[in-house]
Amino acid sequence: MKKNLLDYSLEEMQNYKIASPSFRIKQIFEWLYKGYSFSEMKNLPADLKEQLNENYVDLPLSILEVKNAKDKSAKFLYKLIDGNIIEGMLMKYKYGYTLCVSTQIGCRMGCVFCASGKNGLIRNLTAGEILAQVIVVNRYLGGTLKERQITNIVLMGMGEPLDNYDNVTKFLKLINSDKSLNISQRNISLSTSGLTDKIKKLADDGFFVTLTISLHASDNITRSQIMPVNKAYNIEEILNATNYYFNKTGRRVIFEYTLIENKNCDNENAEKLVNLLKGRVCHVNLIPLNEIKENNLHSCSRKKAEEFLNVLLKNNISATIRRTIGAEIDGACGQLRANHINRKTEEKNN
Ligand code: SAH
Ligand code: SF4
Repeated sequence: MKKNLLDYSLEEMQNYKIASPSFRIKQIFEWLYKGYSFSEMKNLPADLKEQLNENYVDLPLSILEVKNAKDKSAKFLYKLIDGNIIEGMLMKYKYGYTLCVSTQIGCRMGCVFCASGKNGLIRNLTAGEILAQVIVVNRYLGGTLKERQITNIVLMGMGEPLDNYDNVTKFLKLINSDKSLNISQRNISLSTSGLTDKIKKLADDGFFVTLTISLHASDNITRSQIMPVNKAYNIEEILNATNYYFNKTGRRVIFEYTLIENKNCDNENAEKLVNLLKGRVCHVNLIPLNEIKENNLHSCSRKKAEEFLNVLLKNNISATIRRTIGAEIDGACGQLRANHINRKTEEKNN
């Protein structure tokens, strides 16, 4: 099987002597990080390009579809070499673009509100496959290695990043390197459903990305109903792990709380959340539920969301309601892929 070159750091490419003389390796590395395939690497001799093509993969994915939203966000569908499809979301802010990347194909956590986990886990993405999402979108936006368009990354696409720990942390190192895209960990957020042993390991291994916890409930009964993973890692264990992460990294932890009607958005739920989070250095992101076809869950009204927010603010808990991004292009995690696959299945059946 061909090796994916983007899985290697520059040092690894040099150690494995992927080309000679060694200055060629630097040229290949720079082309790859700009998003160019072997055949487009203008300053390489034809026989070297041929040799590379025989042994290695240049870009392990390509952009299959881009859906633009009115608010300047865009949803990307990528096709991987094995035919699998993953997704990403691009958001434009004043300071630049933030890209939301996927870390797995599918997800085995099975949260009831999420489309990504509906068919379970298909496979982990490699570090190079996670990195390639940033590289191809940067090229799509006209960015280069030195003048990149993407300034921030959120690991919030399809998959549970901490269930793919080795590839995700390798990706963090690859993208952080000053020879590559040099995106600082301060500009990267990692969202997790709360795998506490891996949260602690992340801090122990010296990472300090912004940790975002998908909490979504303020008691264990409700959380277990909507997030089965809570049976393995409950709220108390998660809060302990976030304390550990904060103490080691000094980084404020963010809690995501998706508001679901008749499940978690009454005044009583807000009061319970206050009791859990009071006195912590944290921020709460309230997210209107992105409704998906596969279940019968609904977001609560804007009024109710604001009441929930006010309970938190009154108790000095930093909190905001997240603006809905790209709602008309199915901006939720896993949604576009689910729609794309449904469309394909319908086409086949007709
Ligand atoms: N697996 C990780 C990261 C990917 S999900 C995690 O769960 O944190 C990224 C975020 O999208 C999570 O906070 C997740 O709970 C949220 N999400 C998933 N489906 C959603 C939906 N239908 N509406 C709103 N948010 C959703
Ligand atoms: Fe997986 Fe996150 Fe979706 Fe839960 S919310 S199924 S952990 S991707």
